Amino acid sequence: MSQSTFRRDWITKPIFRMAQHALPRLSDTEREAIEAGDVWWDAELFTGNPDWNKLLGCAPAELSEEEQQFLAGPVEDLCRMVDDWKINWEWHDLPPEVWDYLKAKKFFAMIIPKAYGGLGFSAYAHSEVIRKLSSCSICTAVTAMVPNSLGPGELLIQFGTKAQQDYWLPRLARGEEIPCFGLTSPEAGSDAASMIDSGVVCRGTYEGRDVLGIRLNWHKRYITLGPIATVLGLAFKLHDPDHLIGDRDDVGITLALVPTHLPGISIGRRHLPAMQVFQNGPNWGHDVFIPMDNVIGGVEQAGKGWKMLMSALAAGRGISLPSLSAAGAAYTSHVTGAYACIREQFHVAIAKFEAIQERLGRMAATAYLLDAARRMTCAALDDGHHPAVITAIMKEQATERMRVCVNDAMDVHGGKAIIEGPLNYMGSLYRGVPIGITVEGANIVTRALIQFGQGAIRCHPYLLKEMMALEDADKARGLEAFDQAFWSHVGHSLANAGRAFGRAWSGGLFAPAPDAAEATKFYRQLGRYAAAFALSVDMALLTLGGGLKRKEMISARFGDILSELYLSSAALKRWNDEGRQMDDLPLLEWCMQASFATIETRFDEIFANFPIRPVGWLLRFFVLPFGRRRRGPSDRVTDRCAEIITNPSAARDRLVVDLFHPAENEHEHGVALLERAFALTVAAQPIRDRMRAARVRDIDQALTQRTISAAEAEQLKAAADAVAAAIAVDDFAPEELTSRGAANREDVSSQAISQRAPQPRPEAAE
Ligand SMILES: Cc1cc2nc3c(=O)[nH]c(=O)nc-3n(C[C@H](O)[C@H](O)[C@H](O)COP(=O)(O)OP(=O)(O)OC[C@H]3O[C@@H](n4cnc5c(N)ncnc54)[C@H](O)[C@@H]3O)c2cc1C
Repeated sequence: MSQSTFRRDWITKPIFRMAQHALPRLSDTEREAIEAGDVWWDAELFTGNPDWNKLLGCAPAELSEEEQQFLAGPVEDLCRMVDDWKINWEWHDLPPEVWDYLKAKKFFAMIIPKAYGGLGFSAYAHSEVIRKLSSCSICTAVTAMVPNSLGPGELLIQFGTKAQQDYWLPRLARGEEIPCFGLTSPEAGSDAASMIDSGVVCRGTYEGRDVLGIRLNWHKRYITLGPIATVLGLAFKLHDPDHLIGDRDDVGITLALVPTHLPGISIGRRHLPAMQVFQNGPNWGHDVFIPMDNVIGGVEQAGKGWKMLMSALAAGRGISLPSLSAAGAAYTSHVTGAYACIREQFHVAIAKFEAIQERLGRMAATAYLLDAARRMTCAALDDGHHPAVITAIMKEQATERMRVCVNDAMDVHGGKAIIEGPLNYMGSLYRGVPIGITVEGANIVTRALIQFGQGAIRCHPYLLKEMMALEDADKARGLEAFDQAFWSHVGHSLANAGRAFGRAWSGGLFAPAPDAAEATKFYRQLGRYAAAFALSVDMALLTLGGGLKRKEMISARFGDILSELYLSSAALKRWNDEGRQMDDLPLLEWCMQASFATIETRFDEIFANFPIRPVGWLLRFFVLPFGRRRRGPSDRVTDRCAEIITNPSAARDRLVVDLFHPAENEHEHGVALLERAFALTVAAQPIRDRMRAARVRDIDQALTQRTISAAEAEQLKAAADAVAAAIAVDDFAPEELTSRGAANREDVSSQAISQRAPQPRPEAAE
């Protein structure tokens, strides 16, 4: 008996039997989700020893000439066309000319290949379009986002038959068809696979012909673009009781295209999601008959709907909401920095208060981080990857961090952001935040089950191989494969135990890192935590096995650590790709310090709550021997980050590059008023400093005393007027706010605007 046969038969075999009970079993839907998409930098992090050169070697995302022109042309024009206040509060829809423009300029066809008449844009260009639209109107951005995300378009491109692609894609590209996708139903939300919407294979009459088809019954809700859709991508469970397409009664989740004019369909009613008026609503189908040709991918794809959905989601989830969130963070930090400079309380700009700086610093760094992660993820997508775990991380982390940013912005603005009206440039985004948190996989379940649960199985170098071997129907072949994977796994775990221990006890000093100037030390720390993560994951899998799936609080914390490792890698890459901008270094430092503190906190929480206490103690000894040492960003770094968004600078501009900026002459636009006031306030600051040194607060007195010139007095007055206009809020005649007064709203609104001449404010130069 050879050494390897001895190992397999006498050592591996008993472990194989034990593992069959201990390791988590995959349900069919989990298996399909895991098989969808692929892995990328996430797998490298799971090795415990990421190769940083691989990351830095990836080409950054770039726009083609044509894509740049689209952003500077149609996207810029569209931003100027929309009036978010009127859309949400008066029209409750996009105006007809905006709908026409969206269709004519092919905003709904960004992902459709040029061969079918679409724009054929890269993931990065698609993301840039959504990002820019998000900075002017959430409703417009969501409307443009949906057909390019989980709409039937992506499914047709990936799985459609040639005939389906030839028929539907050009029609979608020309805007002749408005698509939507119906997955969610009242009983099936996060657990979408539990839907009871059904289809039965049968013969029927379609357009006068007797054909093999499906009789459908469904009730879907929350469907974006549903109320106006002409074609509904429908997910349902297919049954074949008469075995007309195979030998199974229950075929499984199937996706089909359903023209919405067919008899039996009720569609058109609307939901009102958080006062965002993008088209969204329920729909029902009662005994609706469609031909078998309408199954996406044809009859061969019947029953494979879940896998198709997961695959389509693997890309779209990394673009739509992360782009909206990155825009939200950049936009809010930009306007909040400016507002904090122009708003004075206690005779001081509120930006000077440390407690305000704490929020501003966090906002600036979050804007930097989210855009870094967005760009890196788009680059991966454009490189042909479909990293399902990374895109789930992006969706969850980007929307959560945007929520923090938006809350900070609301708090810093105070009443100015609360009072609704055309001058309020924060309210719409604030109301939209919970939508981003909930759609495309609600965040709590995404954090608890997907990021780590699926991440561990997908990205771990050996786990999936072991699980597949355990489930192999051919036991001898399974044992052979398990033997290989298991012993490689043991070697991997031992190496990581050594790494984690050495790097923890040496403070990461000797962890490998590229020569990245001031950032080198950050790579070393991340290398330390990656090794600790890999070791802890292996110990958790070994000791908890399938039980780990139910320990959602533990899984979620592992998910957080993986997310931190990913986002921090992205921030490091951004700093490198942008030529190591020294002005941005405080932002990078803030992100790193915050990330290290979160990682250590999560490890600490995992070890403290580990169900098998001695394992928790052992891991703590290996990973956090000196306890939690990282306390988060220092006050000094936070202050420097706040300075970036409260002073005009290239670093401030870099945060909002290619977002929408309303023109200075748009006097009714709250952001334009703010930008003008900010510029005038900054320009007038040296004059005010001089007055303060002379202990004069009143402009006229300063003029009389010749502390300032007449021109400077004018400059101060212009700045004061601009500030008064920028801090103004809306008010309404009582009848405007009742339905009775709605008919007169146009007249009264225009009166209100004309009455809103800037009021002079008392001078305060200190
Ligand atoms: C504005 C809007 C637009 C939408 N557009 C579309 C669309 O176009 N097409 C479409 O098909 N759907 C759409 N949806 C549906 C969306 O995808 C679902 O709302 C989402 O999947 C969550 O389902 P639910 O709202 O029923 O929440 P539930 O599933 O009831 O979840 C409630 C809470 O429980 C948590 N939870 C659930 N399971 C677990 C678990 N195992 N562990 C821990 N926590 C858990 C969730 O995270 C959530 O916090 C839209 C929804 C909204 C609000």
